[in-house]
Amino acid sequence: MSLPVGLLALQGDFEMHRQALADLGHETRFVRRPAELAEVSALVIPGGESTTLTRLVARAGLADPLRAFASERPVLGTCAGLIMLSSELAGEKQGDFGVEPLGILDCVVSRNAYGRQIDSFTAPVDATALDGDSAPVRAVFIRAPRIMAVGAGAQVVVTHEGEPVGVRQGAVLGLTFHPELTSDRRLHRAFLELGG
Ligand code: GLN
Repeated sequence: MSLPVGLLALQGDFEMHRQALADLGHETRFVRRPAELAEVSALVIPGGESTTLTRLVARAGLADPLRAFASERPVLGTCAGLIMLSSELAGEKQGDFGVEPLGILDCVVSRNAYGRQIDSFTAPVDATALDGDSAPVRAVFIRAPRIMAVGAGAQVVVTHEGEPVGVRQGAVLGLTFHPELTSDRRLHRAFLELGG
């Protein structure tokens, strides 16, 4: 019997990810404590607020267990979840605003980098490099981060107007937008397939 997919359920929109995974026929389980990571086959770190996520991850003692988990199993981070997975923040000194990225996905991100006037928008993105399907995917960006640099170990797999909005390193996938907010399950499906 396969294990359910975990949802880091400390803060943010994990409920919508639960729905997306249920649509694909997957059982899910909320993860709030380190021991619960042993009971899931993969993990989604949802969007929300990375400052709050940082505090709650630290309080739950989850930082090191999450790093260990990601070295063995697929992890998807969306928006604030990607910020948590990243290796470095641009434009603010690490920790200054209380965000401590976990250093799981080799990329530099800048928080809230689209500016206030367009801080939320929907746009088609190209995920051909992720799953081989060249049809565009509609992506919802909400106070989204921007990926400023991608390390040698990571690969850009989703782009918006030529700019990276999705990065993959092994079975770890980070997206700057919210795939759970549309009815298209293609990106969740692609993520689950990273597990092999
Ligand atoms: N702006 C948020 C942050 O910095 C991310 C927004 C989101 O997850 N939709 O954490």
